[in-house]
Amino acid sequence: MTLISIGVPCFNEEKTVLIFYNEILKVFSDLDESLKFEIIFIDDGSKDDTFKVIKDISKKDERIKYIKFSRNFGKESAIYAGLKNSKGDYVMTMDADLQDPPALLPEMVEYIKSGYDCVATRRVTRKGEPIIRSWLSKLFYRTINKLSEVEFVDGVRDYRMMTRAMTDSVLSLTEYNRFSKGLFAWVGFETKYLEFENIEREEGETSWSFFKLVKYSIEGFVSFSTSLLSIAIVLGILFSIISMVIILFIVINDLLYSNPVPGWASTICSILFIGGVQLFCIGLLGLYISRTYLETKKRPIYISKEEKL
Ligand code: UDP
Ligand code: MG
Repeated sequence: MTLISIGVPCFNEEKTVLIFYNEILKVFSDLDESLKFEIIFIDDGSKDDTFKVIKDISKKDERIKYIKFSRNFGKESAIYAGLKNSKGDYVMTMDADLQDPPALLPEMVEYIKSGYDCVATRRVTRKGEPIIRSWLSKLFYRTINKLSEVEFVDGVRDYRMMTRAMTDSVLSLTEYNRFSKGLFAWVGFETKYLEFENIEREEGETSWSFFKLVKYSIEGFVSFSTSLLSIAIVLGILFSIISMVIILFIVINDLLYSNPVPGWASTICSILFIGGVQLFCIGLLGLYISRTYLETKKRPIYISKEEKL
């Protein structure tokens, strides 16, 4: 018998949880008898009746487990909680809104059985998404791949199936600032990517505002690359060279022609410009230092208020 654990982060998903559950039942009824499943719903501090719906399902079906967070800790924490409390031989992460098509599940099992450690999924289209958002996201992947040692595949989702060994490796990374896409790539192992077309949300609304996405991308950069820090050094060297040339020019100019103070405008401009660059670099440093600060506190990744596991 093979047990598949499915961790499902839920934040205000009262309308989708039951639909999701029924879809999973359908998929497994067509699968081999030897494949069993458990679903771990993680209620990430929902403000609606999500938890009530989850509890109702769980009462009728003992394969349904849950963890209720004491507040909203974010999807990354919910993913971690799902992995940590999974008992399966194969472990999955899946969104509750059915944007991660359950129909891919049989194929995933096949690939894992054939020897892959992980089967991940990626969206090849971004239908129904604002153009500017798709463009920014492409830009994000292009840049981070240049700067980071691990590979980030464009459009990759958190929706994936992993072997026990890989799951345990991901769990051994206990950092507080979690960027799962990076962590999955960082641990290595052999991953098969399945492609699918973007599907719009079944019910409810996305909880990702533009601002949240920007914050998420910065998290990716800071967690998986320290190259940004070299920007300060490169700019510093560049400006030192430029200033040497200018100093030489001014001194010679003064000795030969002894000009009286022209060009205050250029002076102000360069002061403002270099001031801006300096503030930018200090801000960048601050990003890394603040992450270090948060890590050293060693706070738990989530706090559970109620659970059935
Ligand atoms: N989610 C969560 N905590 C949050 C935000 C989202 O657990 O703070 C869950 C949400 O319930 C869903 C999944 O993460 O199951 C993906 O969220 P969403 O559909 O809003 O994101 P999108 O699909 O637009 O990227
Ligand atoms: Mg979604």
